[in-house]
Amino acid sequence: MTDQSTACPACGGSRLTSVYTKDDVPSHSCLLLADEDEARAFPKGDLRIAFCERCGFIMNTAFDPTKNQYSARYEETQAFSTRFQEFARDLAKRWTDKYDLYGKTVLEIGCGKGEFLVHLVEQGAGAGIGIDPGVRPERITSPVAGRLTWITDLYSERYAHLTADAVVCRHTLEHIAPVGDFMRMIRAALGDRTDIPVLFELPDVLRVLQEAAFWDVYYEHCSYFSAGSLARLFRATGFEVLDVSLDYDDQYLLIEARPSTVPAAGDPLPIEDDLATLRVGVRHFQREVATTLNRWSEMLWRGHQRGEKAAIWGSGSKGVSFLATLGPAADLVRYAVDINPHKHGMFMAGSGHRIVPSEWLREDRPDLLIIMNPIYRDEIAGELTRLGVDTELRAV
Ligand SMILES: [Zn+2]
Repeated sequence: MTDQSTACPACGGSRLTSVYTKDDVPSHSCLLLADEDEARAFPKGDLRIAFCERCGFIMNTAFDPTKNQYSARYEETQAFSTRFQEFARDLAKRWTDKYDLYGKTVLEIGCGKGEFLVHLVEQGAGAGIGIDPGVRPERITSPVAGRLTWITDLYSERYAHLTADAVVCRHTLEHIAPVGDFMRMIRAALGDRTDIPVLFELPDVLRVLQEAAFWDVYYEHCSYFSAGSLARLFRATGFEVLDVSLDYDDQYLLIEARPSTVPAAGDPLPIEDDLATLRVGVRHFQREVATTLNRWSEMLWRGHQRGEKAAIWGSGSKGVSFLATLGPAADLVRYAVDINPHKHGMFMAGSGHRIVPSEWLREDRPDLLIIMNPIYRDEIAGELTRLGVDTELRAV
């Protein structure tokens, strides 16, 4: 099926192929809801995931930005995980060294709760400016807090006057629909300062396609990139791509670039040559997604028939999407465990599952615990040992 009505926001191409369709998914994944009924009645939106045949960009053509409101109630941080913290600290160190950010000012667009900017300044950057509607400066306890400036807002042309020696943007571009306009806005703000490193991190869609990972496709993520489609966007919007790589067990893409004054500067890197691989991935996702869904659903029903109890670990976007997509089998999941204390006692958008601390497992003792990100398996197994809880662990 080809949707002729929409142009690709990354390249302007008009040949979009449908990848995946789902109606009535929660329009937010990380908003905290104190009331179960409010959580279940949470506003819904549709997924019309499409693939641009020209540049490989994948998007939700039914995305309506007015359904997304980011605010202080938004609880996206993964920083309560040691594994994620170590990764972020290590990345901050690597970028500080590689781009000589010592003593320099870094602007972070979409800084979330601000942890990464703190890491950068602790590693040697001189100062940081963080912009995000969900930033919570009162949570920052680092000794470098005095060198950080926070702006509680979405980045826009209003902030083009902010000058910095580097621009960082992590896990933000996938929440933005007009990705071409967004990159051109950043490029325009940088003007003739072609020495500024521009460093982005976001999920890699190729892995999502190859694993038919339906839990990684959700409303908040309206834009999905591979190494190639991301680099093509950067090159098309006035950047020279210095490096593109995969990290965090190949879940995340890192792109390092700088403003260019000539169109499409530099030769594409070998990793960018992925259009054929993407097409294969799209077909694989289309073929396998129903099977993957049924496998989880049947596992839960079989366990239920044996009188077993099941729960998930991870109440973030993947958990919300997993439960919202499972259908009736989601009712067989008793609750979601999360290590972020700010989420405890709250309810997940859409399915309305309660979010509980890990100590809860001591009392309830589920027979099956589904881990929403395999990278946390060791961390979770360690926590279960500490709690003295023996349960079957399965990662998506
Ligand atoms: Zn395109």
